[in-house]
Amino acid sequence: MLPITRPCIEDAALVFQGQHILEVAPWKDLKAHWQGPIEDLGERVLLPGLINPHTHLEYTLMGDEFCGDVGAYAFTDWIDRIVRLKSRWSINQFAQSWISGYQDQWQSGTTTLADTLSQFPLLEAITKPDGPRLKCLLEWIHTEPGAVPPERVDRFKQALLSADHWGESPAGLSPHAPYTTTPDLWRTIDDHTELRHRCRSVHLAESRAELELFTQDQGPLKSWLKSKGINQSWGQGHPVDLFDQHDALQPGLLAIHGNLLDDLTVKRLSRKQVGLVHCPRSHAFFNHPPFPINACLKAGIVVALGTDSLASMPSPVGDRPFHLFHEIQWLMRRCLDISPTLALRMITLNAAKVLGMDKEVGSLDAGKLADWVTTPCQESPQSVEAWLVGSIPTWDRVTQAGRERFSGWSE
Ligand SMILES: [Zn+2]
Repeated sequence: MLPITRPCIEDAALVFQGQHILEVAPWKDLKAHWQGPIEDLGERVLLPGLINPHTHLEYTLMGDEFCGDVGAYAFTDWIDRIVRLKSRWSINQFAQSWISGYQDQWQSGTTTLADTLSQFPLLEAITKPDGPRLKCLLEWIHTEPGAVPPERVDRFKQALLSADHWGESPAGLSPHAPYTTTPDLWRTIDDHTELRHRCRSVHLAESRAELELFTQDQGPLKSWLKSKGINQSWGQGHPVDLFDQHDALQPGLLAIHGNLLDDLTVKRLSRKQVGLVHCPRSHAFFNHPPFPINACLKAGIVVALGTDSLASMPSPVGDRPFHLFHEIQWLMRRCLDISPTLALRMITLNAAKVLGMDKEVGSLDAGKLADWVTTPCQESPQSVEAWLVGSIPTWDRVTQAGRERFSGWSE
């Protein structure tokens, strides 16, 4: 058993009642006083349910509309293409796309998911099927100068309430990116109690084009925004510094990507207790500069891994495209000094931490929700983590909150 918060336990037992874990210990320590029912899972490794802190499920079926070759799109060309595609899609297409992505999750071993949603009518249009615990992060794009009109704030608050009922975890906000939001929008969020306390995620320091726009006031993103009549209003500097100057860097902020960070901006994120989600396949797809993972870890930033959408993933995506072990493998191929222990933490406990959900999920500890996955395994406790991350495991049982959700059990 890999509890994540402590080393592998051989011949382990997990005791749960209802939705929660009561105890995790070596079976030899428990069996003398145990009187309840026992299920022997045999030669298997059991680890916490996986947590994906960044997806855009509504784009799942858009994957076919993009060439999956690495480097096929410059970042701004990709943005332009997805904006055009989105304007042509009906709400029905988005609904099918979202559902197909959501239904893939159990087999991928994901039991908790944070999904960024831009198409709010989906909250009414979809009867959500069975799937992992969902935290909906509602995208907010606001580029007009001046204060955000109150009626727009009210509409957003209404959507958040709908998203609270739609997902199993309180909904949050996703002010999209520095180039699609204004300091006024971030101030508005702080000014409203109903918005201020919610989880916030933002695509930050993702591409060279973004950096060029903010530090040099030029480049392809600048031209593209200009063609849409948009001027960025943050001022000039690194997006992380500009965010800090405008009080948008706050503890608990979830920064997606962070591909273009230098030592100073890493320190700034660390000081402000910002969490980071790295998406290794999306990173490779766009040929971004190397993600400064070692600098981030050294500075004490909590780094998790996410899948991003299937529209920004190198092909072939495989038959379980949302399986987070794909991300681990892409990461470990590029960053040779990442240990299997750390890689597994990035898709469990670290992902729970950046979402502010680590009291509930992310490890196998007493009091947390009984979420776990299993796969057949003959390895020793010393080699199990390395063995695990060397493949894309086929989970033969996925349990969430004590209930079996998926079983491909075979002896
Ligand atoms: Zn994204």
